[in-house]
Amino acid sequence: MQSYIASFDIGTSEVKAALLDRHGRSSLEHSIALTTFGDDNGAFEQEANDWFHAVQRIAAGWWRSGVAPNRIAVIAVSGQMQNFLPLGRNQAPLRRAVLYADQRAQPEAREINARYGADTLARELDNPLTAASILPKLLRWRSESGPDFQRLRHIVLGAKDYIVLRLTDSHITDRTNASTTGLYLPGADAWHAGLLADYGVPLASMPELRQAGEQVGAVTALAAGQTGFATGTPVLCGLGDAGAATLGAGVGRAGEAYLYLGTTAWLAHLAPPGAAAADRPVFTLAGVAAGLSLRAAPVLNAGNILRWALTLVGHRPGDSVADSFRLFAAELDGAEVPDGLLFIPYLHAERCPIALPAPNGALLGITASTTRSQILQAVLQGTALSLRWCAELLGMQSAAPLTVVGGGVRSEAWLQAIADTLELELLVKPDAQMLPLRGLAALAAVELGWVRCPNDFLEAMDGTVAATTTWRPRHGERHRIRSKFEMFKRYAAALPTLADEGGPIAAWPRLAEPESISRC
Ligand code: ADP
Repeated sequence: MQSYIASFDIGTSEVKAALLDRHGRSSLEHSIALTTFGDDNGAFEQEANDWFHAVQRIAAGWWRSGVAPNRIAVIAVSGQMQNFLPLGRNQAPLRRAVLYADQRAQPEAREINARYGADTLARELDNPLTAASILPKLLRWRSESGPDFQRLRHIVLGAKDYIVLRLTDSHITDRTNASTTGLYLPGADAWHAGLLADYGVPLASMPELRQAGEQVGAVTALAAGQTGFATGTPVLCGLGDAGAATLGAGVGRAGEAYLYLGTTAWLAHLAPPGAAAADRPVFTLAGVAAGLSLRAAPVLNAGNILRWALTLVGHRPGDSVADSFRLFAAELDGAEVPDGLLFIPYLHAERCPIALPAPNGALLGITASTTRSQILQAVLQGTALSLRWCAELLGMQSAAPLTVVGGGVRSEAWLQAIADTLELELLVKPDAQMLPLRGLAALAAVELGWVRCPNDFLEAMDGTVAATTTWRPRHGERHRIRSKFEMFKRYAAALPTLADEGGPIAAWPRLAEPESISRC
């Protein structure tokens, strides 16, 4: 009898899921959109129950399609990391989950860094402590919610951990997700008990650290009633989405790299463990490949900037996004970005390559002959220049092709702009959106004894989908790109200072290098 791995990815914009058989064939792929609650103060929240409802709805669809629950051999879940979700009794959320992109805990992050020394903390944690870290978010919540803090039983640190908790009653997390929290000491493989104690946060509220491929429990009778999964179905620990995407991209050796291009993005490569610096906003993630760290540059302004640019071709709420992307592609019509035209893509706060607590976007060097096509092309180039800066911060040396994952691969013009700007060949798999699900399933296939290592399963899967597409950089662009990149870094770094002084336009005359403004 055929059995399946049920693989779920709790993404930012949607929950994706698929059933995979032992030959790597994927079926009954589903996705359900999620609502994000935000405001102008940098809020970025979701209802944890929406994640669970999406899992329930997807499972219900499988049962309606005739899949018998007892054919699910194992459930594996990955998802967004750096979530802060406090739970009270009976796993009831005490507030909405505060997501990785939420920027409101800046003062709390500053206070913690000042108290311990940002560099000392970054060395201990192997990661910088920022407003996205868990402790600053928790302190902010405590100061606002008061008595709710007394009801705190568990702190959930990732979207998939909440799903695992609801399915099994096990409060766990994996080391990849733990690395992003600002509370995990990779050297000791333990939570930072001192930091928690200093701020009065009970160590007992933290999840247990487990291996990603480990079975951490089984579907409880309550969860079986809520989802239709059979009671006792094994559930794996799973891992944060950056780890799952790494496995899915087939990246497993030192120096190998990939790019996740979604609503947000990250550029990541595997490297020997090394000291983190507080002034480098890149993550060092444990638990992805033995003896290696995943160094990841998390970028908040990526696919969402293309979505914004759709408004320049007339996209309005309710219009088909796919149709507007077609209009966008047609409008580009081979346009080149003039040397003086520069788009700085930080229309939202940013984490990497530059930490910006507030939006700092700009379109510079526009003249009476600038066309809309050139502006659209500059938008693509601006996001690509930001990624090049990330590559520089990560110290990526390799000229080997870069695998690209995520829904952004649907934009061919964007891929070409990124290949030109990074001066790297890009490899795009046709099922790029599903790579986190594939990586997770490969991990589960090892746990089930179907294959010996994840790559055996991925290769079987590759046999079931069409060939990889390659995007080559246009080397004629090299010189222009390099000088544009230097210009990009200079202006992107200058804009926040100008905003502090009362806004970029008012402050332009105060720039130190007026001649470089006219070049722009
Ligand atoms: P998430 O990170 O939310 O899971 P996805 O991987 O689904 O995101 O990618 C979403 C991004 O893909 C969008 O922000 C947009 O830039 C891009 N995109 C979506 N639809 C299209 C399309 N039809 N053509 C080109 N790009 C698209």
